[in-house]
Amino acid sequence: MIKHDEWGPEILMEVYDPKTKMHGFLCVDNTFLGPGKGGIRMTPDVDAEEVFRLARTMTWKNALAELPFGGAKAGIVADPKKITKEQKKKIIQAFSIALKPLCPSQYIAAPDVNTGEEEMRWFVEANGSWQSATGKPANLCYGNDKCGIPHELGSTGCGVAYATQVAAKHAGIDLKNTTIVVEGFGNVGSFAAKYLQEMGAKIVAVSDSKGTIYNMNGLDVVKLNDVKKATGSVVNYRPGEVKLQKDIFSLPVDIIIPAALTDSINCKNVKDVKAKIIIEAANIAITEEAEDILRERNVIVVPDFVANAGGVISSYAEYKGLTHEKMFELVKSKIVRNTKIALEECDKRKLCAHKIVLDIAKERVRKAMEK
Ligand code: NAD
Repeated sequence: MIKHDEWGPEILMEVYDPKTKMHGFLCVDNTFLGPGKGGIRMTPDVDAEEVFRLARTMTWKNALAELPFGGAKAGIVADPKKITKEQKKKIIQAFSIALKPLCPSQYIAAPDVNTGEEEMRWFVEANGSWQSATGKPANLCYGNDKCGIPHELGSTGCGVAYATQVAAKHAGIDLKNTTIVVEGFGNVGSFAAKYLQEMGAKIVAVSDSKGTIYNMNGLDVVKLNDVKKATGSVVNYRPGEVKLQKDIFSLPVDIIIPAALTDSINCKNVKDVKAKIIIEAANIAITEEAEDILRERNVIVVPDFVANAGGVISSYAEYKGLTHEKMFELVKSKIVRNTKIALEECDKRKLCAHKIVLDIAKERVRKAMEK
């Protein structure tokens, strides 16, 4: 159940178009720092509550990254595997038209699970405003220098890699000797794996919607991308042992990066976790109860709105018409700084990292509301 509180949500919308069967949700949580910013998720079971929880996370994430955006999120109920590209385009267009009165003054869209640069192109074209979405294709240019910064550049995964680097250093582990698993080999997971491998870490398992592939000697991320592209799943990579999706969390590794679903690490499977560090790349990948248990066991957790803020930081760069180079500089400086603050404060105050960064973010939003 969605409960209104001192922060929001300001707008809760459910839209349906009988012609295309588009059924979607929008939640604009809090706009005191700026228009609500958050991606569009397309999954068969997305609902108003999930969209609200994700919108609230965006409120804190944008505040923590010190961006002039509020929090929002959208969801479209559809299984992309069961519809054609043309149907998907029509659904995105219908969703964009339904949200037109609010975009971009109160809501600015972005990619999320099962949406990418192509979908953002369809969204802005149907909406008519260049600023109604970020994560647009690089070749989609307006004016002299305002082009899209597609999330296919990997800004979120890059930020996750920086957060991992800081957390490993904090734990006294040399990233070059670490073993890492990544749940989800989509936009965030595949780029996090790529950047971490370039930093010298060993990626020993990755998963996707078909299962997990594991090789304790390490997987080649470039080859994993090729296999995923050619066959549709990382489980076809060789040499490697195919395991169930859920097995990825119990492997004997140093670092887990959940980069797929909400509530992936929860009360049921937290006892199986052997890693010393978890970088929450997906939004709300760890339940609150599971994070408390991890804290008691001294497992370092870098929360979602610290670790995966690369997406919103690049959105901001795109919104402002900044270059890719400037965008990557911003991602690095903001994520390194916030991860350090979160982990140092965690040690000082003996609290979960989530609670620490939440306090900082809430303070910023509160100040904006008092103005
Ligand atoms: P994506 O659709 O590109 O990738 C999701 C991946 O998860 C796919 O590889 C899919 O096969 C896999 N997957 C689905 N079900 C799975 C399961 N049961 N087990 C293992 N893997 C499974 O999505 P994305 O953009 O990479 O987003 C992933 C998460 O990161 C989401 O929580 C999203 O909200 C969050 N996030 C994304 C961005 C961004 O810029 N894309 C920014 C911040 C946060």
